[in-house]
Amino acid sequence: MSITERLYYSDSHLIEFEARVVDITDRVSGWTTVVLDRTAFYPTGGGQPSDTGTLNGARVVECIDDGDKGVLHVVQNFAPGRDETVRGRVDWSRRLDHMQQHTGQHILSQAFINLFDAPTRSFRVLESGCEIDVDLNNPTTEIIERAVELANNVIWEDRAITIRSVTANEAAELPLRKEPSREGDLRLIEIDGFDLTPCGGTHAYRTGEVGMIAVRAWERAKGLTRIEFVAGMRALADYRKANKSAREVAALFSTGRDDAPQVASQMLEEHKELNRRIRALEELAAEVEAEKLLAAAIEGVVKHVFEGRDAESLKKLAHALVAHPGTVALLASRDKDTARLVFARSADARGDMSALMREACATLEGRGGGRPEMAQGGGKRLDLLDDTLATISSILDTAGGAS
Ligand SMILES: [Zn+2]
Repeated sequence: MSITERLYYSDSHLIEFEARVVDITDRVSGWTTVVLDRTAFYPTGGGQPSDTGTLNGARVVECIDDGDKGVLHVVQNFAPGRDETVRGRVDWSRRLDHMQQHTGQHILSQAFINLFDAPTRSFRVLESGCEIDVDLNNPTTEIIERAVELANNVIWEDRAITIRSVTANEAAELPLRKEPSREGDLRLIEIDGFDLTPCGGTHAYRTGEVGMIAVRAWERAKGLTRIEFVAGMRALADYRKANKSAREVAALFSTGRDDAPQVASQMLEEHKELNRRIRALEELAAEVEAEKLLAAAIEGVVKHVFEGRDAESLKKLAHALVAHPGTVALLASRDKDTARLVFARSADARGDMSALMREACATLEGRGGGRPEMAQGGGKRLDLLDDTLATISSILDTAGGAS
């Protein structure tokens, strides 16, 4: 038998209470753990986080269930001594939030059993949402939403939620949603005409207090379906957030919130089509540019340093150039803080572009390579780009030129 009487077992809405200090242990720098003869503070457990609040005005940051030794209240700057009477106050908005999530979980879990015979294997209240792992192997939006709809109907029917204590033998005769995790007498939570389950947590008085349940996302995980949901105040906070995001996206497209997906999808299609047209025009432009460069080339070698051209654009131009017989293209670009190179030759021209590229990149302190007909690379020594290209060109001359 625990030395702390757990007031939250009989009344989940009790937030102010008086109690006697049974034990105090000083921890580090002003922190103390306090055991009381009775408490309304719920300690971390059963997937539900601890309550917080105050004891005689001192901040209670966490409560820990220490079994037979009672509930440990972790308090900062606690003044009273052993056997003194203190006044406790539980942070109500946090308690209400936890009750909404936790009671919401009972309802949603039963909805999945009721409709799809899919039991819940575990449950967690997280910082912003909650998770249940459900034994459901064919989740679809329709299946999930049917359970959400049933759960919300049960909430809006405002059914009574009652607590009762039964012996293990009595429990064995009852249709419990899940097997009890402990021996001896059991605390049962009954949602009138809907759910009966053993639980030590804090629950709403009536289902209406849960407000509503919304599923945010779901995924298959370890053979189960992990469902992320929010209940009560969290559902409203999540709606506000989702609505704000949706409206901001819609504003970018100068349209209404609910039209945004269609408008965005149309715009993406147009974007793809424009890219296709740009690529076609670039090829045409490269062909024209190639003609001009070839007209000024000496013995079929085109050697040029461009400003601000990316690797893709250099490659397009190189392809257009070497489509002409007897041509070698030694192309370079100062692209922001990088020196870029593309070397290419037509099938009937001589020279190993890959070997020349490795040589050039070594000088430019970068990397590059490719095939004998086509190679690309780059480096960071922009200052050596002109000289490097001149050197590569003279190596090519010595080796016998382009043809
Ligand atoms: Zn519960």
